[in-house]
Amino acid sequence: MIRFEHVTKRYEDGTTAVDDLSFEVAEGELVTLVGPSGCGKTTTMKMVNRLIEPTSGRVLLAGEDVMTVDPVRLRRRVGYVIQQTGLFPHRTVLDNTATVPFLTGWGRAKARARAAELLELVGLDPAHFGPRYPDQLSGGQRQRVGVARALAADPPVLLMDEPFGAVDPVVRDRLQREFRKLQAELGKTVLLVTHDIEEAVKLGDRIAVYGEGRLEQYATPAGVLGAPATPYVAEFVGSDRALKQLSVTTINPEDLERPPFAHLDEDAGRAAGRLRAEGARWAVVLDGDDQLHGWVGTREMAGAGGVGTVADHARRMEAWVPVDATLKQAFSEMLGHDAGWIAVVDGNRFLGVLTPTTLHEALRRTITGPLRDSPRDRAEVDSVPTD
Ligand code: ADP
Ligand code: MG
Repeated sequence: MIRFEHVTKRYEDGTTAVDDLSFEVAEGELVTLVGPSGCGKTTTMKMVNRLIEPTSGRVLLAGEDVMTVDPVRLRRRVGYVIQQTGLFPHRTVLDNTATVPFLTGWGRAKARARAAELLELVGLDPAHFGPRYPDQLSGGQRQRVGVARALAADPPVLLMDEPFGAVDPVVRDRLQREFRKLQAELGKTVLLVTHDIEEAVKLGDRIAVYGEGRLEQYATPAGVLGAPATPYVAEFVGSDRALKQLSVTTINPEDLERPPFAHLDEDAGRAAGRLRAEGARWAVVLDGDDQLHGWVGTREMAGAGGVGTVADHARRMEAWVPVDATLKQAFSEMLGHDAGWIAVVDGNRFLGVLTPTTLHEALRRTITGPLRDSPRDRAEVDSVPTD
């Protein structure tokens, strides 16, 4: 959908802001562009809607070189959320949001109705917030209006330049999550700039990591965290990249352990005896269809005289996660319930348990490098004479 082909931007004063950039954003994909201040993120972004023109190379939008497209038509297809929301201070929130539909020839009433819909969509009650002016909103609310305004013309492509930069961490986290959900529903192609690796990881389907105007790595969050392509990327993602990795790695059913289990209808005394013989202190309770019913403690079941069936002694399973959860969610459930293991279910079907050991193994497997297979190492190997 958006394609950079060997794009370079040199400003008049000789600053090379972007140097030989090539990458592609697929339709419906959310790509985050991350790097330190001054590395050329905003410049990259503005070359998509022609607010800045490349010195060389091409930027293609849906296959068309943006330099050949009428800028007004171009900007209608590309929503833009800028760093400081850029709302008109003397216009109400509703009219700010209605700006683009109104400019593109919708009648005032229709443009306002559309604006109200969009405010609703970003979680602002139009009746309450619509008549206010931007300076009567909090930072987070203003950012929502910025997003609503960019969505108003229903552009297939959204450019967002540090859209959540100006709000406190708690609000920011909420806005990020809501935006991610919204994006999944709307399916826009999004290029989102941030200087925050956490944000890049949380939001991006793929991440473009910049250093000094050059693309250092273009990969999925798991790819960037798990296998940084250069020492620069390794340093940029930080020494806690293993922890960050937790939040982007989902559970692999192959990592799960099958703990001892007891059948729901099993005689309690017999089950306790069997479990004790196996050396099991507890067991997962399942029915015939592998549906998870809870768990039992071997000693408690035996101590209660072993009367009735396992079902009579089963306790509710508090610590569980769905199989599509991330390792971070699994770990945090484990800590939250002070449990040494956590059940993993697919719907109601029990798949196995995750323990700190399996969690650690899963994590270790996703992390490689940094740079175990670096070009330098290879060069040294290559330079060994073979004849
Ligand atoms: P980022 O958004 O990553 O912080 P920018 O794209 O804004 O970075 O800027 C990249 C580099 O280009 C910086 O060194 C900046 O100072 C320089 N730059 C940006 N705009 C101009 C301009 N209009 N003229 C000259 N240099 C500029
Ligand atoms: Mg910038």
